[in-house]
Amino acid sequence: MITSVGGVAVLPRHRLSCHCGAVVLELALPDGIVEPRRCDCSICRRKGAIVASVPLAGISVVEGAEFLQLYQFNTKVARHYFCSRCGIHTHHQRRSFPDQYSYNVGCLEGINPFLLNDVPVYDGVEHPADRKRPAA
Ligand SMILES: [Zn+2]
Repeated sequence: MITSVGGVAVLPRHRLSCHCGAVVLELALPDGIVEPRRCDCSICRRKGAIVASVPLAGISVVEGAEFLQLYQFNTKVARHYFCSRCGIHTHHQRRSFPDQYSYNVGCLEGINPFLLNDVPVYDGVEHPADRKRPAA
């Protein structure tokens, strides 16, 4: 449970913004930043962002809903949102856990994601939804 990064508190309700400030979200983070990670899937490897997840109800759009653009590809299950003005990815609805959003930790106001230690890399190349289950 990460409730402070480099001496900056992660608030129970923390604001997240894109670079230009058009898009502002409020996140419910009662347990701080939970399991921050990187992912090596085709889109995350290009973004390079550290992400963490919240339940869908844990994100509300405070400002700039009209600037949020949806990007989908391949199975079209995951919903990737970015600011149409500055291009920054703010959050996405997950394919592996559609009842969760992942958010861009680098967009949390005041938080420097490079101060997080030992951020693991999630195996997004062999996506959990694509793994073959052993025959029962
Ligand atoms: Zn923006």
